[in-house]
Amino acid sequence: MQFCTLFSGSSGNAVYLSTSRGGLLVDCGLSARQSLDAMSKAGLDPTAIHAILITHEHSDHIKGAGVMSRKLGVPIYATQGTWEGMERSVGEIPARHRVAITAGESFFLDDIEVASFSIPHDANDPVGYRFFMGKQSVAVATDLGYFSQSVADAVSGAHIVLLESNHDPDLLQKNAHYPTHLKTRILGRKGHLSNDAGAQAAVRLAQCGTRHLLLGHLSNENNTPDLAYRTSYAALHEAGAALGHDVTLHIAPRFQPSFIYCD
Ligand SMILES: [Zn+2]
Ligand SMILES: [Zn+2]
Repeated sequence: MQFCTLFSGSSGNAVYLSTSRGGLLVDCGLSARQSLDAMSKAGLDPTAIHAILITHEHSDHIKGAGVMSRKLGVPIYATQGTWEGMERSVGEIPARHRVAITAGESFFLDDIEVASFSIPHDANDPVGYRFFMGKQSVAVATDLGYFSQSVADAVSGAHIVLLESNHDPDLLQKNAHYPTHLKTRILGRKGHLSNDAGAQAAVRLAQCGTRHLLLGHLSNENNTPDLAYRTSYAALHEAGAALGHDVTLHIAPRFQPSFIYCD
């Protein structure tokens, strides 16, 4: 198993997961070229990708999805609402490569069981994903207005979790470049998870068996990797977790692959 982000943040997101039988991308929010370059640099095999799963239609998640689907000749999976929202952006996708899923349903891709779950975010019908491979499972939980009980239930116990740690509320409030409506949106119940909210979620996850936390979808302007890391580190430490022993903590970089989790 190989799992990592190719890039992560408000400018573009993609997650790579593969097993010996096949693999997938979750989102493709930079160009297909940038995604392929990122895989090549990280030594990841793009031909392992047998599907592209989309979380929601915001451009930082779909920008390269259509081109990538055509280049690799693989289907795109998304909820009906997401399909409607991204129809114009993905270009022509043949019917056999359009798969509409229902939030909450599970299905198999190669030897990976995929479980989708609804997330609180301001998109048509956004979802997160959890992937089961034998005894292992990996979850992708970003673009969360808050860490709802249903999200907690969906990801609880996953060995590896990509968890949002989007912004520092003080930096956001003081940011003169951001209009008020955008600040309200980000801070709202369908916006993005702050460092503190991410840290609280990290503690809950660590207490439920998560061994590897990858903090992602960091804001470029309203966060720093160091601030996100320190906030979760402090909360985990405070809760009695031995960092590096009970749980590992990494930051997903904006424009390059993260730490690659292998098994
Ligand atoms: Zn979004
Ligand atoms: Zn996003």
